[in-house]
Amino acid sequence: MKTERTKAIGERILDGVVGAPGIAIGPAHVSEAGALQVPEYEIRQDDIAAETGRFEVALTRSQNQLTKLKTKSLALPDATAEELGYLLDAHLLMLTGSRLVRGVEETIASKRINAEAAVQMAISEVARGFESLPDAYMAARADDVREVGARLIRNLTDTPFQAFTHLPPGTIIIAEELSPADAALINPEIVAGFATVLGGKESHTAIMARSFGLPAIFGVAGLLGGVKSGETVIIDGAAGRIIVDPKPETLLDYEGRRKLLERERRRLDRLINLPSETSDGTLVGLQANLELPREVDSALAVGAEGIGLLRTEFMFMNRDTPPDEDEQYESLSGLIAAMGGRPITVRTLDVGGEKLAYSLGEHLGHPVNPALGLRAIRLSLKQVKLFEAQLAAILRAGAHGPVRILLPMIAGTGEIRQSREILTRVIKRLKRRGVPIADPIPPLGVMIEVPGAALAADALAAHVDFFAIGTNDLTMYTLAIDRADEQVAHLYNPLHPGVLRLIQFAVQAGMRARIPVSVCGEMAGDSRYTALLLGLGVRELSMASPSLPRVKQRIRQIDMTAATMRAEIIMSQADSGRIAALLDDFNGLA
Ligand code: PEP
Ligand code: MG
Repeated sequence: MKTERTKAIGERILDGVVGAPGIAIGPAHVSEAGALQVPEYEIRQDDIAAETGRFEVALTRSQNQLTKLKTKSLALPDATAEELGYLLDAHLLMLTGSRLVRGVEETIASKRINAEAAVQMAISEVARGFESLPDAYMAARADDVREVGARLIRNLTDTPFQAFTHLPPGTIIIAEELSPADAALINPEIVAGFATVLGGKESHTAIMARSFGLPAIFGVAGLLGGVKSGETVIIDGAAGRIIVDPKPETLLDYEGRRKLLERERRRLDRLINLPSETSDGTLVGLQANLELPREVDSALAVGAEGIGLLRTEFMFMNRDTPPDEDEQYESLSGLIAAMGGRPITVRTLDVGGEKLAYSLGEHLGHPVNPALGLRAIRLSLKQVKLFEAQLAAILRAGAHGPVRILLPMIAGTGEIRQSREILTRVIKRLKRRGVPIADPIPPLGVMIEVPGAALAADALAAHVDFFAIGTNDLTMYTLAIDRADEQVAHLYNPLHPGVLRLIQFAVQAGMRARIPVSVCGEMAGDSRYTALLLGLGVRELSMASPSLPRVKQRIRQIDMTAATMRAEIIMSQADSGRIAALLDDFNGLA
C-alpha cells in the first residue's frame, strides 16, 4: 500500500510470527498489486445476476481483507496505526454502498459485460473525478481508488500477486499476503525468503516455505510501510524477525550465523546413509511430504524412504480449469519414475479452507466458514466426476510403482464407504477397458485430522488400510485456532493435552487393528516432538525434506524405553506448559 510508506532511515527491526527457519539476506522486493490483466467479455442477459453475484463475493472478500489488515495495524505504534487506520477505513468506505459499487453493478447490467471489466471502467471514471479536483489531497485519492479497484480485480480473477520471475537472484519478497498458490510460483533460485503482513505459522504457505527451505516470517505489522524495494533486509526465520537496512556489524553477525547454519546442515547431511533407528535399535520410517513435483530431488537427497504425503493440490493451482485424468496420470507417473520404486502416498484433493484452487472455484462456492465448509473429501464426494478422474489417474500411475491412496478430512465411516464404492467402480471401468492399473489394488488410508475421526479411530481402523495423522488440522480443529491466522498463532499448540490424547487414541486404535500409522503434520518434522511421538507408539514420520536429517539425528539419540516412559508421564499431565517443560527436559533443552 503505497500511501503507508514512511521514510525511515537506518537499521529497523520488525517482528512477526516464526514461519520457516533459516537466515536470508538480500534486496527487498515489495510486492504491489501492479498492473493487472483484466479480461473483458460480453455476458448474456441471463447471466447478469450471476455476474453481479461474482462481484459481490469479490467485494466481501476485499472487505474482509481490509478489516483483517486494520486489526493487524493496531499492533503498530499509535501514530502509524492511526494514519493507516484512516487509509484502510477510506478503502473500506469505497467498498460499502458507494458510487463505485453502484457504478459496477449498473455497468454489468447496462453494458452486459463481465465484472472485472465493469470494475475497471468504474475505477477509471471515479479516479478521473478525483484527479480533476483542485484540492491536492483529494486529487491524491485517485491512487486509493485504483488500489481498491486492483484489490477487487485480484479477488475477481483470483490472480496471485506475481510470479516473481523477473527479480534478481537472492531477492526477498515483502507482501501483504502470499497464498499457497502464490508460494507455488516462487522459484527458490530467485527468491531467498519472504515476509508478509498476514498469515500464520501453520498455514500452507508456511509449510511450503519450510519445504522449499526458504526462510519466512508472517504477521509483521507495519511491514509494507517499513521496507522499500531495493533495501537490504535480513530475514531471521527462527526468530520471526526482519531487519531492514542493517548496520554493517549486524550484517556481519548474520552472515556469520548463516555460515554456522550451513555448516550444521552439512554435518547433518552425513547422516543420510545411516539407518533411522533409536539408540536401542527401533526402526522409524522417515518419508517426505511433497507440495510440488520439483521437490522430489530434495526428498531423495536427504534419503527419504518414500513420499508419505503427496499434496495433489499443486495440480489444480494457478490454472483456469482442473486437469483431466490423463494429465494427472502423466504428472503422477513422472513422480513415480523419479522415486525409483520407493512408495508414494497420494492424497486425494484437499482444496478448500485457505487452500483455494481457482480452477475449482465454481465447485467450491463461497462457504460461510471455509475451514468448516465444502472441502477435501466432502468436495470429492460431491463432485464425483472430479474424484473419479483423480482415482483413475492414481490407479493407472500405480501400474508403474507402489502407491497408496489417502483420503483427507475424513470424519466418519460413511465417507470411507462411499469412497470405496467409487474406487471399486473406477477399478471396474478401467479393467473393463483393459487399462493397466496397480496390481494389487493400492492400500486405502485416511487422514486423522478431524477430532471426531480421532475419537472414532477404532471404528475407522476397521475400514481402512492405514492412518496418517494430520496434526496441523487436528490441532486447529481441536483448539478452535485458525492455523493461518497470525493473531491467534501464539495459542496454536500441539502440546495441548487434548491434541495429544487424540493422537494417542488414534495411534493405539491403529495398533490394535494392526494397520500402519504415520504422522505427517508439521509435528513430524520438528525434532522437539520426536521423542514424544515415538513414545506414543508412532513408527513412521513424514515431513518437509529439509527437516528430515535433524529428525533422524534426534531419533538416533533416543532410547525407546526412556521415551515411552516419558510419554506416559506427559500423558498424565493436564497443563501444556508442564508438558512442554517435561519434553524439553527429556530433550536436554531445559
Ligand atoms: C495436516 O492437517 O496435518 C496435514 C498434514 O494436512 P495439510 O497440512 O495439508 O492440511
Ligand atoms: Mg490437513
